[in-house]
Amino acid sequence: MDSAPLRILIVDDDAVDRMAVRRAIKNAGILIEVHEAETCAGAITILKAEAFDCIFLDYRLPDRDGLTLIQTIRSEGIVSPLIVLTGQGDEQIAVDLMKAGASDYLAKSKITSGRLAQMLRNAMRVHQAEQQAALVNQRLKESYELLVEQHKALEEQRQQIHQQNLQLTHAAELKSRFLATVSHELRTPLNAILGFSQMLLRPSKGKLTEKQTEMVQRIFANGKNLLEMLNEVLDFSRIEANRLDLKPESFNLEHLITATVGEMRSLAVLKQLTLATEIHLQNAVVFNDPVRLRQVLVNLLSNAIKFTDTGKVWVEAQEISPDRLLIAVHDTGIGIAPEHVAYIFEAFRQVDQTDSRKYAGTGLGLAITQTLIQMMGGTITVATQPGQGSTFLIEISRQAEGQAEGNRPGSGSAEQATRSALPQPLTR
Ligand code: ADP
Repeated sequence: MDSAPLRILIVDDDAVDRMAVRRAIKNAGILIEVHEAETCAGAITILKAEAFDCIFLDYRLPDRDGLTLIQTIRSEGIVSPLIVLTGQGDEQIAVDLMKAGASDYLAKSKITSGRLAQMLRNAMRVHQAEQQAALVNQRLKESYELLVEQHKALEEQRQQIHQQNLQLTHAAELKSRFLATVSHELRTPLNAILGFSQMLLRPSKGKLTEKQTEMVQRIFANGKNLLEMLNEVLDFSRIEANRLDLKPESFNLEHLITATVGEMRSLAVLKQLTLATEIHLQNAVVFNDPVRLRQVLVNLLSNAIKFTDTGKVWVEAQEISPDRLLIAVHDTGIGIAPEHVAYIFEAFRQVDQTDSRKYAGTGLGLAITQTLIQMMGGTITVATQPGQGSTFLIEISRQAEGQAEGNRPGSGSAEQATRSALPQPLTR
């Protein structure tokens, strides 16, 4: 117990009984400050004005019975512990008293110092525990309300993000569609330019001067570059719109590599680079999309040639296991600094992002290449050292993932014929 005296209110119309209670508590050695009331009305007045640590209440009072007084006290919001002192024969209503809010009860005839002190301590302990529980409850309620509010705020944020996501997706779709439309529309006049410049170069179309021939050749070469870039943009927009899929079939990988390297030879010759193949395949037959695998090789080879000024570019192919194949494109070029390696596979990322950059390109080649290899269930990695060169390493299964041509809905021999008859490498 605290050293400060306990504030006790004794409500009893009998002065002798009040004194008995007072004495009993004091005799137990408890320091108390006693206030007294003789009637219910008097008790209510005091209780409304002051707070007490415990109330001792005579069950039978002149103006009201104890039960009604307890109900009144509790309905006033007074929560102090309350011990009812009953007369002979009043014990039967004990249950009602407890229900109404009494902390305990004791027959007046059984009052002893020890009992009263014990009851007082118990009632106060219970009261304190109840107060603490109420406090904890209140805090829990507050936390719960806070959580509900936070949850509401989070839900609102989630809705907002969802809304923004929808808008972004819509914007991205529009962008992809725009890219697809523009690149598609640009390809038509460009193909005409390529076709006519090729025609002009034919001897049957009359003799051009040397200067004119060179100019037309440059129109043709630049047009082809432009077409390749447009095709990259178109492929990228297809990838973004999830409209690019593989058309696997059986073919000879060695033939594909040799043919692709052959097509790139003129570029390597222009830069006086050695272009070679090192193919060590026990079994060269694979099941994959030849057009897309060729596109991957063209991307890697044209990068290798573009970023190599002297030395060699070579393609290596071998089996890691009967089912896993390795294709590597090596060069002795400028290499890539470690801090740039991480993002070269991202779309539109180039080591040199300046407007005055030396090497042309869209920055889409490796992004498309990586997506294609992943669609085939393979991986692509790079080992590179600035000033020494780079190796782009592809690992794929002999049997690539993706739907087989014959199983594809709507696929047929007409499409197959168109695909194999395609004259330009990157025009699918
Ligand atoms: P692009 O070639 O159109 O710029 P890519 O996506 O093919 O775009 O390549 C991204 C960047 O990665 C290139 O701009 C270049 O900086 C770097 N890179 C790719 N291949 C090589 C290579 N063989 N050697 C050095 N740098 C390379």
